[in-house]
Amino acid sequence: MHGPVAPAAQSDDTLFQTLIATAVDGIMVIDELGIVQVYNKACERLFQYRADEVIGQNVKMLMPAPYREQHDGYLEHYRTSGEARIIGVGREARGQRKDGSEFPLYLSVGQGALDGKRIFVGVVHDLTQLKSEAAAREQERNFLASIVESSNDAIISKTLDGTITSWNAAAEYIFGYTAKEMIGQPISTLFPPDMIDEETFILAKLAKGESIEHYETVRRRKGGAHIDISLTVSPLYDAGGKIIGASKTARDITERKTAEARLQMLQNELTHVARLTEMGQFSAALAHELNQPLTAMLNYVNVAKRLLVSQNPDAPAKTYETIAKAGQQAQRAGQIIRRMRDFVEKRDSKRTIEDINKIAADAIALGLVGAKIANIKMHTTFADRAPAVLVDKVQIQQVLVNLLRNAAEAMAESPKRELTVTTRNIDDTAVEVAVADTGPGIPEDLAKRLFEPFVTTKAGGMGIGLAISQSIVEAHGGQLRMAPNKNGGAIFHFRLPAAPTME
Ligand code: ADP
Repeated sequence: MHGPVAPAAQSDDTLFQTLIATAVDGIMVIDELGIVQVYNKACERLFQYRADEVIGQNVKMLMPAPYREQHDGYLEHYRTSGEARIIGVGREARGQRKDGSEFPLYLSVGQGALDGKRIFVGVVHDLTQLKSEAAAREQERNFLASIVESSNDAIISKTLDGTITSWNAAAEYIFGYTAKEMIGQPISTLFPPDMIDEETFILAKLAKGESIEHYETVRRRKGGAHIDISLTVSPLYDAGGKIIGASKTARDITERKTAEARLQMLQNELTHVARLTEMGQFSAALAHELNQPLTAMLNYVNVAKRLLVSQNPDAPAKTYETIAKAGQQAQRAGQIIRRMRDFVEKRDSKRTIEDINKIAADAIALGLVGAKIANIKMHTTFADRAPAVLVDKVQIQQVLVNLLRNAAEAMAESPKRELTVTTRNIDDTAVEVAVADTGPGIPEDLAKRLFEPFVTTKAGGMGIGLAISQSIVEAHGGQLRMAPNKNGGAIFHFRLPAAPTME
């Protein structure tokens, strides 16, 4: 292609003309001084000049600066020194059209002889399309790179053996290592020592072509501090579809975790305060409740004293019996105090497998302290075989105590004062707990806002009992609802899912 033009082609004029005219690339021939001898159709399309405007002119008219100014000198240098820069090689250059616009081109130049004179044959290939495609790709790459760089999430890629191959700005920020420090290092640098196994699990998933999405875990920053992250890992494929590595996106969720923990703490605090208020509100009744066994004990002790000094022959046996009775009363008082202490104790939420009937019985004992004085009749209908539940016992008690206290208060003025607590087995998948009263019930407009905080109709009410109860029940996977009781009054009910079983 760059060889000298064969004289044979010259004689076969038609073939030569056709070849030149139909060539897709521009073909031109210049003499030693740069004067254009041949300028084909493709050249006309490329440069917008007609052949008659160019033939006989210096080829530099087709070049933009700085080529234009350099070209004569270049030809001269070649003539005198024989030192070529482009001849026989080809390179990228730029052309200038008649309208002054420029375009990229690839120029290959061959040298030949014509009528004993040296000529140069140039083939001009338009690179406009190729360049714009490359520019588009480049732009896309830059765009993607800028997304990666500006992301708030750490974006890291690694090979399948865990060597880090890329590390963005957020990764620097989150993990504290610079890209320079990390590229080429093993990804295990980021693992807390006891979590190194996690990489095996991640790699196994990747090898199957699976991704890991929003997996919450812990990594180590530079310096060793632990951070909570949410991890997404996807396989990276080569052009042939083979997995060659993985890209990891890590989001710093330390802040969210801290916020969650704080919220949890506040929630615990609030439920605790609510329990205290609950206890405070019926402390008078509670004192009464405790007073009963204490008075009874006192009585038994007095009887025992008298028996001991009496001449009665049955005295020792009777004294024993009386002291045993005093002991039972002490136990009863102890039980009341134990329950109460459990109930008001400040504690973190913890879930254990529990029997709902036992929780309900304890709640009734606590919640109905003083109910006898208020003349309330208590009924219980407990499920025989209720599935166990995984709950925070004290919190569920708190819900029930709250419902019972509300019911008792609501019935204060009612002619009929009956409270029914029911537990029901729902197909072994859940238990339903209901507290029904025979009070005035709840008017519709109040019913709508019942579970909102600070909704109260009581003079000294806080209106947080039901709101807290609702949030506790929801946290246990249920929903606290109210329905009217058919003979007046209200029924509050909720379901708790059965605890997962080992089978
Ligand atoms: P508080 O008891 O401090 O008012 P709650 O959130 O426990 O707060 O109750 C909100 C309101 O709902 C009560 O003020 C009362 O008007 C109404 N309420 C709750 N339970 C009953 C009930 N069993 N019968 C009638 N009204 C009730």
